Amino acid sequence: MTTAPPRSEQLADPAAALRAAGLRVTAPRVATLEVVAAHPHTDAETIAGAVRSCLGAVSRQTVYDVLHALTDAELLRRVSVGSRSMLYEIHEHDNHHHLICRHCGRLEDVPCVVGHAPCLHPEQDHGFDIEIADVVYRVVCSDCRARKESAA
Ligand SMILES: [Zn+2]
Ligand SMILES: [Zn+2]
Ligand SMILES: [Zn+2]
Repeated sequence: MTTAPPRSEQLADPAAALRAAGLRVTAPRVATLEVVAAHPHTDAETIAGAVRSCLGAVSRQTVYDVLHALTDAELLRRVSVGSRSMLYEIHEHDNHHHLICRHCGRLEDVPCVVGHAPCLHPEQDHGFDIEIADVVYRVVCSDCRARKESAA
């Protein structure tokens, strides 16, 4: 278990969250945390655009470096749902999983039934230390299902 601050605290005070993680407080880091908190499951390109529209002259590379630093510090969690780019969200240390609609791409968080990582263990681990099982549920969302039913 971890002592990382809960999401609400990071939303309220990104500077405090950075300091608690032992990171220097910089404008791009604060802006990146604010953007991701407001728009979870966002790709790096979109985050870079939003940070630049708040701060002006920030290079894309700077935002990418910030994303790496914040992910390493576990303030951000990088999520792969099989789309072309990785998505970022505030790291809540809850090992939650994702539902993604295979028609419209709508993405929702779902709690992990087990609650801690790894929540699945392979029968054969080849002697490796299993750290996490990333679970992505491929779904047809309720809207897409309704659309399909009304078209039929
Ligand atoms: Zn859908
Ligand atoms: Zn999520
Ligand atoms: Zn799980």
